[in-house]
Amino acid sequence: MAEPHAFGIAGLLGWPVAHSRSPVIHNYWLSRYGLQGRYVLFPVPPERLAQAMHGLSALRMRGCNVTTPHKQAVMPLIDHVDPLARQIGAVNTVVVEDDGSLRGFNNDGNGFVQSIRDAKPDWCPDSGPITVLGAGGAARAVVASLAAQGAREIRVVNRTHERAQESQTLFGPAVSAVHWEQREAALQDVALLANATNQGMAGKPPLDIRLDRLPARAIVGDLIYTPPLTPLLAAARARGNLTVNGLGLLLNQARPAFNAWFGVMPEITPELVRAIEATF
Ligand code: NAP
Repeated sequence: MAEPHAFGIAGLLGWPVAHSRSPVIHNYWLSRYGLQGRYVLFPVPPERLAQAMHGLSALRMRGCNVTTPHKQAVMPLIDHVDPLARQIGAVNTVVVEDDGSLRGFNNDGNGFVQSIRDAKPDWCPDSGPITVLGAGGAARAVVASLAAQGAREIRVVNRTHERAQESQTLFGPAVSAVHWEQREAALQDVALLANATNQGMAGKPPLDIRLDRLPARAIVGDLIYTPPLTPLLAAARARGNLTVNGLGLLLNQARPAFNAWFGVMPEITPELVRAIEATF
């Protein structure tokens, strides 16, 4: 579909979308690799999602990212959903194929796992037990990727226990569902703690958890990047734990999407990280 030298358009469909840093990332890469194109924001309310998706190929767009509240709702509108995205039950990236059909995948979990590796290259998913707080779409993506990449013990702790149990059923024997009241006990022996709830985000209360039982060697990852230092990460850092915020996820999930749309696997440069940090 894409003419080799044609101006390429990709963008983000969400409601709202104005807060997104994705345009900074993709437009930086377009410029860095000398590609003609633009990444734009599309505020699409839920009742217009189907129309917007049908328009992608008519407009000869390369594809799009999909964010809240569309990640699940978009699935029936996509021709080919890859197996990991199907297992997660959510899509975050859509590619318009040459024949106009739509292919969907989900890079959030792999982006998170890569962000932890970037911070600590000798860490791997089977380095030790992992506790994931949350069982929403982002948590499911993280658990699916951790399990697919060899994690042997993943404790999913969620306020609504039934959703933690769903993750256990979906992602197999490595996953156990833990009651929210047991969240502090679930920190025992972990190599990685991941916050995939929305607690600690700008405008939300801090995550309600004490870190006393967290081992000193544990990495603490928060999927949130606004603010860049959540109360959880600040508390973990004060104890001496290595911390990773959600910017690494955002950047790492963007790389394969850019590659699928524009044919270049882009690099995360210090200049790009500084450009995003300048937006806070
Ligand atoms: P979601 O599907 O709405 O899930 C929200 C999660 O937060 C659920 O597990 C929910 O528990 C939990 N929660 C909400 N209020 C809570 C409270 N008061 N106490 C304890 N838990 C609470 O959202 P999502 O799409 O998975 O996103 C989760 C987080 O990841 C958000 O902060 C989002 O910004 C972040 N994220 C970041 C990136 C990135 O690029 N860095 C990408 C995706 C998501 P219940 O099941 O009990 O409601």
